[in-house]
Amino acid sequence: MFFQQSLRELREEREENLTDSLLERLQKGGIELSWLDWLLGERSIFIWLPKGELWSVLVHEAILNDSTFHRQGAPCYHFTPCEEIKRVASDIELSRRYLASLPGENRFDFKTISGRSELRFFRDKPLEPCPLCLEAYRGGGGGQKPLDFNEVHGKNLRKFYGKEREREWNRLASELIKIRHHTCDICQKSHPKESLHVHWREDGRVEIVCKNCERRI
Ligand SMILES: [Zn+2]
Ligand SMILES: [Zn+2]
Ligand SMILES: [Zn+2]
Repeated sequence: MFFQQSLRELREEREENLTDSLLERLQKGGIELSWLDWLLGERSIFIWLPKGELWSVLVHEAILNDSTFHRQGAPCYHFTPCEEIKRVASDIELSRRYLASLPGENRFDFKTISGRSELRFFRDKPLEPCPLCLEAYRGGGGGQKPLDFNEVHGKNLRKFYGKEREREWNRLASELIKIRHHTCDICQKSHPKESLHVHWREDGRVEIVCKNCERRI
């Protein structure tokens, strides 16, 4: 399931099952960033899945040089576009070392390499949040209490993400509404743009919801 093999499997998937299998891999292990259509918001890291599904994801470095590992230990997970993630965004080679994921629990996989040989695999390891991401979260109204992993896709973080800079957010929302053909993700009916809202689910999916359906969330 680690990297190359999973990519080969993915290419063999039929188009209609692709989103499901991508989601399953995002939940169990993660997908190489360089393989995904990803973008940085003001506060969150997004990926586009087929059929215009937008999700916010966690990102961690999954391939570490052995020397780095001995110096710094396990990687951390990122949930905002911090300096490290911005560097990854501008470097394709570097982005091959990072995985995007939607884990329900604090469990991540990574491995260490030396030259071309893979040395150690770590599976289901709990990781610490990135200090830079944490600082952005605290400075952005996230509060001072320790960030429990369960909150990463829970209400607190959603509130923090929800404060995406308005201009950026509106741009993304219009794009999303256009790609989804003005269709509400809940009732699947088409609506004028004015009656559609963006709704951030706790699992990270960014949905479009009509006024009628929004009342029922
Ligand atoms: Zn970070
Ligand atoms: Zn609806
Ligand atoms: Zn809503």
